[in-house]
Parts: sequence; structure tokens; C-alpha cells
Amino acid sequence: YAESSLEAAKASGKNRLCFFSPEDYEKKLTALELREDLETAVRRGFAGFSLCYQPQVRSESFDLFGAEALLRFESARRGTVPPGEFIPILEESGLIYQVGLWVLQCALEQCRIWRAQFPSFHISVNMSYMQLYRAEIETDVLRILKASGLPGDALTIEVTESMQLQDYQHLNTIFSAWKQEGIGISVDDFGTGYSSLSWLKELTVDEIKIDRCFVSGVQNSAYNLRLISNMIELADSCHIRVCCEGVETPEELLALERLHPTLYQGSLFATPSVPDSFAHHYRSRQDLLRLSNAGQAAQY
Ligand code: C2E
Ligand code: MG
Ligand code: MG
Ligand code: MG
Repeated sequence: YAESSLEAAKASGKNRLCFFSPEDYEKKLTALELREDLETAVRRGFAGFSLCYQPQVRSESFDLFGAEALLRFESARRGTVPPGEFIPILEESGLIYQVGLWVLQCALEQCRIWRAQFPSFHISVNMSYMQLYRAEIETDVLRILKASGLPGDALTIEVTESMQLQDYQHLNTIFSAWKQEGIGISVDDFGTGYSSLSWLKELTVDEIKIDRCFVSGVQNSAYNLRLISNMIELADSCHIRVCCEGVETPEELLALERLHPTLYQGSLFATPSVPDSFAHHYRSRQDLLRLSNAGQAAQY
């Protein structure tokens, strides 16, 4: 470590003072430990990794549409580590590829189980840049889908648009192959990253997920409401499904209902949960209808 920090100091240029920072050292050490823990977990058959599921419901009817699978990691040394911390390390180390295939396999298996209980249950799985740029990804996904016995339209792959799009051609080739099997493509965190509109221009997507930053407190912001309204109109005219993410309050829901998105996801409906409590965990459709009717009544 001392050596690499010396290198960094040299690289930062001449005529500068560099201080050894205990905080930086601490950070680096934690990241190294975490990386070791992640490597060990992968080697031990993904021990410590698990998936939580967050429901997605249709607007107006509040019927259950499906769920998004969200990766969790419990480190032997540090306990529960938030995804914002361990996913970047999985990406840097390349481990995300194997872990991602494991996520896909588990999520599809869970979806198959839930289909017995909830008709045409749908599952969304996140994929990052690193995963999509590996040559084998196209066939690996198709192989895992096939093994699950599910139709392709049970699955949507969420891609974060904040990743810098370099090679649309490559992505289009993969996405086309997946689309032929019915797999959907979703642009996650829509509106927050680079080039939202070029995603729609260069790639055929099936869904956009409007980021929580637009949704949060939307009932108090005529401006944000107009932004969302226009994103929905744009999506509608391109036959793209719209999911509003991070809906937390009845007030947000009531403001959004007037704009007719396709789907909602957020803590108002349910926070992500382990499979065993999923069915009991989300707010009932009756409660949501009551909320929405009360809101409509209050408006007139
Ligand atoms: P994302 O795909 O945008 O997932 C939505 C995030 O928002 C989740 O955080 C979820 O718990 C959180 N969320 C949902 N509803 C609400 C709400 O009402 N209020 C608030 N404050 N937050 C809400 P989580 O689980 O921490 O995941 C963070 C990110 O990690 C995900 O963002 C996704 O980009 C990434 N991620 C998670 N699982 C995977 C995975 O299997 N593979 C890859 N590549 N990335 C993943
Ligand atoms: Mg997502
Ligand atoms: Mg998102
Ligand atoms: Mg996100």
C-alpha cells in the first residue's frame, strides 16, 4: 500500500505536497477486505449472497405484475454490506459476471415458483455494463432462461443508463437475440444518467424506469410532474412501458395516478423482502384502491 500511495503521489505531479491520510488507508483496507470476502463467497458456491424481491404493481388496478430481484451480501467480517458498496467491487474485480449469472438463475427459479401462486408473474434482473460486454453473455442468458423452463417474456433485464454507452451495435446484437425469445429490456434510473434519449434512439427498449429523484415529493412540484408526464407521453408514443420507481407516499401515488404510468415500485407498496415473506409483505390491493379512491374523492 505504501508503495502504491507513493506512486499516486508522484503521478499527481511535481511541486505538490501529498499527505498520508489514515482515512484513505482505512477505506482502501476495507475495500480490500470486502473484495477478499466476495471472492471467498463466490468460491464457496455464492455463500453469503442472497436475493430480495420488491413487487411491481400495475397502475389503476394495483394488480401484482411481478418483482425486481435485488442482490444482497452478508460478509463474514462485516455483516450486511449495502449494494452501493459491494456491487462496484464486484464490477472492478470482474466477479460480477459469475455472480450475475447466479442472480439470473435464482431469480428465474423463484419466478417459476411464484407463477404457481401468481399468474404470469414477471421478474426483472439488473445487469451492469461489465456483464453486457462479455462475449458469452448473449448465449449464457439464453441458456439459463431455457433451463428455467420459463417463457422469455417472464424476464426483463434492467440496464442502468448511467453506464456510458460505447458500442450500441454490440448491445443491439445481444438485445435482438434476447428479444427474439421475448426477453424485455428496461432502462433503469431513466433521466439521471448520460444520454437518456440516445438509449431510445439507438436501442429498442421495452421499459423505462423513471428514477426516484423525479418521483420524490412530486405532488409538490408542478415542474417534476410535467417532466414525468412528458416522459410517460414519450414512452407511450414509442410503445414503451413506464415504471415509476421509489414511490413512498400516498400523495406521490395520487399525483402519479393522473399520469397513467404502467407500473409502480416503491416502499409504499413494499420494501424489498426475502422470498418467504414476499406474499405477506406488500400492501393489499384493497388498501391501495381505498387510498386512490379517497384521493380522487378529495379532488372533487
Ligand atoms: P436499482 O436497480 O435502481 O434498484 C432500486 C433501488 O431502490 C433498490 O436499492 C431498492 O431497494 C431501492 N428502493 C426501492 N423502493 C424504494 C423507495 O420507496 N425508497 C427508497 N429510498 N429506495 C427504494 P438496492 O437494493 O440498495 O439496490 C441498489 C442498486 O444496486 C440497484 O438500483 C442496482 O443498480 C444495483 N443492483 C442490485 N442488485 C443487482 C444485481 O443483481 N446486479 C447488478 N448488476 N446490480 C444490482
Ligand atoms: Mg433496477
Ligand atoms: Mg432504478
Ligand atoms: Mg439504481
